[in-house]
Amino acid sequence: MQPILIVQGGAGDITDSRVPGKLTGIKESLRVGIKILENGGSSLDAVEEAVRSMELDENFNTGYGACLNTDGVVEVEASIMDGKSLKSGCVTLLQDIMHPISVARKVMEKTNHTFIGGESAMNFARTQKFEVLPQGSLVTENAKIALEEFKERQRKGLDTFFSRTELDKKQESVGELGETVGAVAIDANGNIAVATSTGGMTGKIPGRIGDTPILGCGTYADNEIGGVSTTGHGETIMRFNLAQRILQRISYKEENAQKATEDVTMEMTKRLVGTGGAITIDKKGDVGVYFTSKRMAWGYIKGNQLVYGINQGETFTEDL
Ligand code: ASP
Repeated sequence: MQPILIVQGGAGDITDSRVPGKLTGIKESLRVGIKILENGGSSLDAVEEAVRSMELDENFNTGYGACLNTDGVVEVEASIMDGKSLKSGCVTLLQDIMHPISVARKVMEKTNHTFIGGESAMNFARTQKFEVLPQGSLVTENAKIALEEFKERQRKGLDTFFSRTELDKKQESVGELGETVGAVAIDANGNIAVATSTGGMTGKIPGRIGDTPILGCGTYADNEIGGVSTTGHGETIMRFNLAQRILQRISYKEENAQKATEDVTMEMTKRLVGTGGAITIDKKGDVGVYFTSKRMAWGYIKGNQLVYGINQGETFTEDL
């Protein structure tokens, strides 16, 4: 099997000034992850490392540079899934932890559980020797500005994501979504893995949990079908089970990864209005990318080609 790695750096109204940083970060993440696959490493290691690379990068909404809740605090969440065993680890409401995806992997490998949140997840991270950074270390100036802008819009009675549906209908600007990160890989042995990590959405209520750590919503991997990582309006994605529905299409309707990703994401926005995006690899090694938001940073490496994009209908290809 030819190894493939696809990554996403979040769906939303990404401003022009943020585009170059996103694309550089996507390429760096692909470089880190594909090296593992090319050296015979597992898809699980590749997706974890690809996501860790974006967690370190303030151009993305997780780890350093993550969104702030209404208290100005970073609360991150993540999930990772192994398509061979269907084992998974999910974490939520972690604070001051740079790499939530690696805590999620430890939940998968070192506990009998699948999902741990809040104080218990923090305690678990400590016992696994993850560094808990000084309070507020992951907060960036950009994240503070985004929260101020969010509060200002709220004061003016403009958009919050709770009224997003109405605003979307009126096609008003609704600001940026959170810009989650994710990776899907298939390795030389045909094993599929998926990892997704996020800071959620600017101005979320403390304790809010989104789609990213929830299996079938933000993340799902099954060697017998494929793998999906999603991004976008979490409340919408959770209600629609976006990742799982894409895989169902591939499985029952025998659609290829692109058609399934496109049709299901479009259907979600048509029915529930909230926007989002997904990246998919099916078990045959076909790739799918689609988003209903204004932009989504994405890229994949298959063979000697790097393919990437960020705007609707735009695809760049580079020979490696
Ligand atoms: N899905 C994430 C959330 O709602 C945000 C994003 O992907 O931009 O938490």
